[in-house]
Amino acid sequence: MTLAIRFGALHHNTGGEPRYNGVLVIEGERIAAIGTDVPAGARVLEAACVVPGLINAHAHLESSGESNAMTLTILTTPTQRAYVAAGNARKTLEAGVTTIREIGATGTMSIDLRDAIASGVALGPAILAAGRLICMTGGHGWFIADETDGPDEMRKTVRRNLKRGADCIKVIATGGVLSPGVEVGSSQLDPDELEVAVREAHKADRRVAAHAIGNQGIKNALRAGVDTIEHGCYLDDEAIKLFKKTGAAYVPTLCAPHFLHEHLDEVPDYARRKTEQVYEAHRASFKRALRAGVTIAAGTDAGTPFNRHELYATELALMVALGMSTEQALHAATAGAAAAAGLAAETGVLEEGMSADLIAVDGDPRKDIKATSRVRGVMVRGAFTSVA
Ligand SMILES: [Zn+2]
Repeated sequence: MTLAIRFGALHHNTGGEPRYNGVLVIEGERIAAIGTDVPAGARVLEAACVVPGLINAHAHLESSGESNAMTLTILTTPTQRAYVAAGNARKTLEAGVTTIREIGATGTMSIDLRDAIASGVALGPAILAAGRLICMTGGHGWFIADETDGPDEMRKTVRRNLKRGADCIKVIATGGVLSPGVEVGSSQLDPDELEVAVREAHKADRRVAAHAIGNQGIKNALRAGVDTIEHGCYLDDEAIKLFKKTGAAYVPTLCAPHFLHEHLDEVPDYARRKTEQVYEAHRASFKRALRAGVTIAAGTDAGTPFNRHELYATELALMVALGMSTEQALHAATAGAAAAAGLAAETGVLEEGMSADLIAVDGDPRKDIKATSRVRGVMVRGAFTSVA
C-alpha cells in the first residue's frame, strides 16, 4: 500500500534547510519519494512537521520511574518485569522513539523483547540490547549485572553476553547514584578489565558503553577505547581531549539527575546525597563538552526514579536549556545517537530509499524543541501508529 504524508515541514537531517509544504511518499517499509504530488490511490495523512524517529541511547525498560530501582528489581519476578518492559516499550514508541539502546536489564529480558518486537509479537521500538551490565563484585548496579573480576573473567563474561545475543556491551567504570554503599567518584572496573571488554566486543563488531561518573573512571574507560561514556558527570580538559582523540560519544542522560533533583524527598537517603553531589558538576560537564565539540547523543536513562519512558522530550529540552541549539538537539536525538550507537547510516535521516522510521509532531522543533513532546503519529519501517 502507498501512503502519502502531506507535511508543513520536514526535517530530513541530510544537511541544509528543512523542506516545507511537501509530500512524503512511503511504499512498504521505505520512503519512495519526497516531492509535492500525492500518488493516485494513496492513503493520505496530514502532519504539521515530520522528523526522523527519535533514538534513546540509554534506557532501562524493566522499571518505570519507581523511587527505588534496587528494591524493585529484587522484589519482582522476571515475568512481572517482562510485562512491565513490554508496556514501557509501547510507551517509548508513543513518545516518538523508534530505536532504543536498552542498556542494562535482568537475564535476557532486553534481548528477548527485542526479538519479540522484531517478529511482531509485541509493539515497541527497535531495540539494541546490552543484556546484563558488567560490574566488579559489589559494583554499581550489581543487582542487574554479571559481577566480574579480572581480565580472564571479563573475557568470559563478554563472550557469554555476546553468545546470549547482546548487541552491545555495558561496563561499569565508576560508582553510581542509585546503588547504596558505592561512591559516585570511585573508580570500579580496572583499566585492564575495561581493555579486555573493549577488545572482545570490538572483535565481534559490537560497541561498548561505559557507565562513568567520576573523573578517573571516565578517563580509564576512554583510554580503554569505549565507544560511549554514559553520564560523565566530572569531565575535565584531559577527559575532553580523550573524547576528541578517541572519537567516543557522550551520552549525558541529563534527565536522570533532573528528575531525581525534582523529587529529592522521595528517594532513598544515599540517592539524595549523591544527586546533590553530582548535579551542578554534571551540568557544567555538559556545557564543557558542548563547547569543545564532543559528539553528544541523547539518552534519558528512562526507568530511573521519576524518569518515565514517555518523557523523552525532556532530555532535548534540558540540552537546549544548557546551551544547545534546537538543531543540535534534534541531531543528538537522531543521526547523532545513531552514529554513537553504531546504527546503519540511514537511521536518523529521511531520504528517498531509506527506511520509513519517522514521527509526526505538532509544531516545529527547530523553533520550539518542546514540539517533540507533542507526537501525533509514529512510523516504524512503514508501519504507522497513531498517538492520541
Ligand atoms: Zn542507566
